[in-house]
Amino acid sequence: MTHGHLDHFGLAQRVSSQGGAAVWIHAADAPILKTPGRTRRHWKPERAPARYALRRPSALRAPLHLARSGALNTSAVPVLRSFRDGELLDVPGRPKALRTSGHTAGSTTFLSSGPAVAFRGDALVTEGSITGHRGPCLICRAFTPDSAAVRESLGTLGTLDARRAGRHARPPPRWPRGRGSARG
Ligand SMILES: [Zn+2]
Repeated sequence: MTHGHLDHFGLAQRVSSQGGAAVWIHAADAPILKTPGRTRRHWKPERAPARYALRRPSALRAPLHLARSGALNTSAVPVLRSFRDGELLDVPGRPKALRTSGHTAGSTTFLSSGPAVAFRGDALVTEGSITGHRGPCLICRAFTPDSAAVRESLGTLGTLDARRAGRHARPPPRWPRGRGSARG
């Protein structure tokens, strides 16, 4: 897993318990997957989500969709393995874990050992579902505990020789000048 957010690890418990697969996550985010119902114990947003909802009611759409889909009842992952920054994971492809924290403490980008590909989770997104922003941006402060650390991580990602940097393996978005801060 790139990080311990409910919209990323919702299927992990089932994959692990029914498929017998081990779930790997950075050691700093592992406690979240062990007690997913207590997410706020592990990280606090820089800005209250309610502020976004007051300004833009449609900001609630994504969180409500997650709640209706059962995200708040996500179970703990039974077979969990953690890794640390720089480790080569013992999984097919032997990806290297590069810590790109800020969005969560253990946010990680995985670098493939073959073709230059980086799977970067939510270190950078192509639109803001809460703010309504279209185009490359950071996840808003309602879902980020340390946006300064995210900007630092983006600097690290900028040094990579990766042809693609999207979690959906799209071509990397162009990072417009002057948008080096979290939106909202
Ligand atoms: Zn996230």
